[in-house]
Amino acid sequence: MVCFRELLSDYLTALFLNTLHSGLISLYLWSPMSLFITSLNSGSNGNCYYVGNDTEAVLVDAGLSCRETDKRMSRLGLSMEKVKALFISHEHSDHIRGVEVLAKKYRFPVYITDNTRISGKLKIDPLLVKTFEAYKPIVIGGLNIVPFKKLHDAVDPYSFTISGNGVNIGVYTDIGAPCEHLINNFKKCHAAFLEANYDSKMLDDGNYPYYLKKRISGGHGHLSNHQALHIFKTYRSPALSLLLLSHLSKNNNTPELAHELFMQHAENTHIVVASRYEETAVYEVTANPAAEIKVSILKTEQMSLF
Ligand SMILES: [Zn+2]
Ligand SMILES: [Zn+2]
Repeated sequence: MVCFRELLSDYLTALFLNTLHSGLISLYLWSPMSLFITSLNSGSNGNCYYVGNDTEAVLVDAGLSCRETDKRMSRLGLSMEKVKALFISHEHSDHIRGVEVLAKKYRFPVYITDNTRISGKLKIDPLLVKTFEAYKPIVIGGLNIVPFKKLHDAVDPYSFTISGNGVNIGVYTDIGAPCEHLINNFKKCHAAFLEANYDSKMLDDGNYPYYLKKRISGGHGHLSNHQALHIFKTYRSPALSLLLLSHLSKNNNTPELAHELFMQHAENTHIVVASRYEETAVYEVTANPAAEIKVSILKTEQMSLF
């Protein structure tokens, strides 16, 4: 029989560890079976996604300035000290704007292919540059990162699935069309950042020039709401507890439209729109599909508490 005193002791130990690691009294219990994720920004004006366990984390893309990245991390109570590596998906400016300054300041390794680094004209200390290949996992502490190729109009574009503590997180934006790699990776996810870039009717009716409309929807641009919905409805795992709709177009989509569309098919999956103007909350994702999604540190609570 588990006695109350033991439970209390476990609770206090977890709280203590949590406090120790974050420097803050967070609003959640540390769980060995979870990962913490947030979008610092998502959209054509800048992308940066955080995935971490209790002691280490990685960033995918660095499309915000270093100063803005720091500001948003600290508003969420997340420490840059925990960030052990940066992964770059492709060379478009909304994914690399902050790379050089972040690497210089924090001296973490930057995982980037040679083609992307050269095409993006990035000057990074060679000691920090690490390359990667599709399906060759990279181990960063307790995190395992698997890159895979995607369809996008960049020189050498990749998506990433990040695993740790039995939890799989997908970071899937800037995708022209769903391919078997995307589908096979998405099927394993407990949570995913999935692009829902545009509403087809808004794009068709909008005033973008023809060539740009073709660039966006022509198979090497971005996923529409309905393409993303099809992936979600057809291939989600019963364990997918959180979907963050990402990289929404400013002109050809609205957060309300995308959210409403996905909510009609959400069932047990929590649907969140990752904003192009601010960070989302930090979400704790567990390997247990029945577990409730927990918002670990709400920004408002964070600010009022500290
Ligand atoms: Zn982008
Ligand atoms: Zn792009």
